[in-house]
Amino acid sequence: MKRVYNFSAGPAVLPEPVLKQAAEEMLDYKNTGMSVMEMSHRSKAFEKILDEAILDLKKLMNIPDNYKVLFVQGGGHTQFAMVPMNLMKHGTADYIITGAWAQKAYKEAKKYGKPRAVASSEDKGFTYIPDCKDLDINPDADYLYMCENNTIYGTVFHDLPNTKGKVLVSDMSSCILSEPVDVSKYGLIYAGAQKNIGPAGTTIVIIREDLLRVDLDTSVPTMLSYQIHADNNSLYNTPPTYGIYICGLVFKWLLNLGGLEEMKKINLKKANLLYDYLDSSKLFIGNVEKKDRSLMNVTFHTPSEELDNAFIKESVERGFTNLKGHRSVGGIRASIYNAMPYEGVKALVDFMEDFERRHTS
Ligand SMILES: *Cc1c(COP(=O)(O)O)cnc(C)c1O
Repeated sequence: MKRVYNFSAGPAVLPEPVLKQAAEEMLDYKNTGMSVMEMSHRSKAFEKILDEAILDLKKLMNIPDNYKVLFVQGGGHTQFAMVPMNLMKHGTADYIITGAWAQKAYKEAKKYGKPRAVASSEDKGFTYIPDCKDLDINPDADYLYMCENNTIYGTVFHDLPNTKGKVLVSDMSSCILSEPVDVSKYGLIYAGAQKNIGPAGTTIVIIREDLLRVDLDTSVPTMLSYQIHADNNSLYNTPPTYGIYICGLVFKWLLNLGGLEEMKKINLKKANLLYDYLDSSKLFIGNVEKKDRSLMNVTFHTPSEELDNAFIKESVERGFTNLKGHRSVGGIRASIYNAMPYEGVKALVDFMEDFERRHTS
C-alpha cells in the first residue's frame, strides 16, 4: 500500500486514523455484526452515531444552544437554493461576490426573489476580499450572504463583514473546522463535507432556531425545508448514514487533537511554511493579495503555463496529486486541509525548492 500526498480541493484527504478505524469497523461495527452502511437509520446503533456526531460538532465549534445542527444531502449547490427558499422572506437579500461559488449562489437566489450584489472582487479575478466594513446594505434584506473561504482562488475573509444587524449566512464548505469561529455571529453556516470534513454526499447546516420557518410556501419541496430536517433531527428520510459516521469520526479525531485552537495552530504552521517559501521564491508567484490568503487553499503560478504544466507533471512522479489549479484560474493550487499532515507540505516545499533550483539561473 502506498498513500500519496493528495492536495485535492475536494473530495479531499481524510485523516489516516479515521480511515483506519473505518476499515477496522467495516465488517462489524461495534459487535452489531454489520457495517454502518448496512444499518437501519432508525437503529439504536445509528441513532447513537448521529447524536454523538451532533454533540461533538457542538463541542468543537462551541455552538450555542439556540442553534440546530442538520445533516442534509445535495452539497453546496443545494444550499444555494435552500438558503433563499427558506430565509428570503421579504424577497431580497444582499450577496458578497468573492468567486464562482458566491456567484452561483447569487444566481440561484434570483430564482426566488430579487437579491442584490453589494460587493465584488471580480474586477481583479477574485484575487482579494473586498472591503466589507461599510456595505450598502438594503434595509429590507433578509440576510447578507458570503462565501467565507474561496476554494478556487485561495482567499478567505479574515474579518467578518459588517452586516449592519442583518442575518449573516456563510458558505464554509472549504474552511469549516479549520479554526475556531464565533457561531453566534452567524444566522446560518453550511458546508459540504467533502472539503474539510468527510465524504461527499453529506452537507452540514448550522442554523439559528429563529430562522426555521413553519410558514414556508407549500411549493417549497419538503426535503428543502430546514424546519423539516430540524423537527426530525435529520431523520425525516434516510440521511447519508455512512457519511455522517465518517464525519463523526473526524470530529472525534479533532477533539483528540485538542480542538480547533490546536487545529488552527497546525494549519498556520503548514500554511506559513508554504507562503513563506512563496514569498522568498524567485520562480513561484502567489496569486492573491497577502492579507486575504487562505489557510486551506494556496494558489500560485510560475512565469509560464508551460512551466506550470511541467511542475504539475513532475509533481505526480514525486508522489503528489491534484496540484493543478482550478480550470477557470489555471496555475497551481495546493489544498492543505486539516487532514494534510505537516510532512506533506514540507515535502511539497522541498520539491518546489528543487524545481526552482533547476529552472532559474
Ligand atoms: C466545492 C464548493 C462548493 C460546491 O459544492 P458541491 O458540494 O459540489 O455542490 C460550494 N462552495 C464552496 C466554498 C466550495 O468549496
